[in-house]
Amino acid sequence: MSEHFDVVVVGGGIVGNAAALALARDRWQVALVEAGPPPAIPKPDDPPTLRVSTLNPAAIELLRRLEVWDRLPVDRLGWFDRMHVWESDIDLGLSFSAADARLTQLGCVLENELVAASLWRAGESQVRQWSGTQVEALELSESGAVVTLADGTELEADLVVAADGARSKVRELAGIDVDRHAYGQLGVVATVAVEDHQDTAWQRFLPTGPLAFLPLANNRCSIVWSLPETQAKELLACDDEAFSRRVEEAAQGCVGTVTLLGERGAFPLNRMHTNEYVKRRVVLVGDAAHVVHPLAGQGANLGLADAAALAEVLATGRDLKRRAADPKTLRSYARWRRSDNAIMIEALHQIAGLYGRDTPGWRGLRLLGARAINQAGWLRGMLIQHASGFGGKVPRLVKPRAVSAAET
Ligand SMILES: Cc1cc2nc3c(=O)[nH]c(=O)nc-3n(C[C@H](O)[C@H](O)[C@H](O)COP(=O)(O)OP(=O)(O)OC[C@H]3O[C@@H](n4cnc5c(N)ncnc54)[C@H](O)[C@@H]3O)c2cc1C
Repeated sequence: MSEHFDVVVVGGGIVGNAAALALARDRWQVALVEAGPPPAIPKPDDPPTLRVSTLNPAAIELLRRLEVWDRLPVDRLGWFDRMHVWESDIDLGLSFSAADARLTQLGCVLENELVAASLWRAGESQVRQWSGTQVEALELSESGAVVTLADGTELEADLVVAADGARSKVRELAGIDVDRHAYGQLGVVATVAVEDHQDTAWQRFLPTGPLAFLPLANNRCSIVWSLPETQAKELLACDDEAFSRRVEEAAQGCVGTVTLLGERGAFPLNRMHTNEYVKRRVVLVGDAAHVVHPLAGQGANLGLADAAALAEVLATGRDLKRRAADPKTLRSYARWRRSDNAIMIEALHQIAGLYGRDTPGWRGLRLLGARAINQAGWLRGMLIQHASGFGGKVPRLVKPRAVSAAET
């Protein structure tokens, strides 16, 4: 016999978990299906896992409102209040500080698994959760949706939320097309011990692609180095000592000595945006709807904003006596999020292209641009406002408010 829900969320990553919890707290009957095992909270002595995200103040605010933030272990959070971006000379770069936008922090670096697991745990009493089984089939009709899991379980729902990542099965089953661009690069990721990261997110734009140092607790950093595939593979193949020296050399001393800790990994870099966010009873959130270049650390932030916006439009719809999958409600979500996300996706794509042009003329122009931005406090403030998740139309669940490490 099948069970009935208002909403079935497919995918228990950061975004699916946040969407499921936000909707359940709004008293929708919610099911959440995750193909893998339930996300697990790392043990205190476990080294940081490789997949981390930089959460902006808006995303942090959402986790606070969902009463998850205060449960995160303080010693696994990497706060930063400054960001420094440069090309060939570290002293001629662009510097942003939290104070530019009257914030106390610019963001926090966290392991994806930790965030997903904390949300999953918080949802245990409010969300009906399935793990270790994936969605295999989807039937959409006038009266509702039926989601069939690999173990044969059938879940009936008014609305299906696809939060199953960049290769979304639900998106495919709903027949939604994507616009994809492969950068032909890999993002090499690793955790390194550094001398001093100065609570700063560092990013150097090399002609081959950006190298980012995202600060973690205890003077560790998560690095993301975007490189053409051949060079990335070569970097992955070198021994630990050579890897550390190459990263340290490229960093131009921003964090002092660098020592590789543990494993390295690599992800192909893509830009992707779906043509539709909504089709019949299916709505897309997170990487199922959009994938961005990691250079500004915005992927998870955009997805969390989708989750907050979806919860808001559904709540407004219910006040108007509409069901979860009401077409008017879903259209307002699609209009809101597709246009906001399109701006960020295009901006990141242009930045990636701008820094990819390695000629003296372009280098000169970029230097002039950096100097102008450094001198214009109002412009820095505006850029930070957007990167913090407080530009454009802001969901109620993430309404602006300063965050501080002292509050954790
Ligand atoms: C190198 C790199 C660095 C990045 N750095 C940052 C950063 O600093 N800041 C930032 O904000 N973002 C960053 N991102 C992007 C960020 O990691 C993603 O945008 C974010 O994790 C997407 O979350 P999601 O929940 O939408 O998808 P995912 O995390 O992909 O989760 C999807 C979930 O769905 C499950 N699933 C898949 N198929 C099925 C199915 N058929 N049935 C059931 N479940 C299914 C999967 O098991 C998975 O748990 C980075 C990405 C890369 C590649």
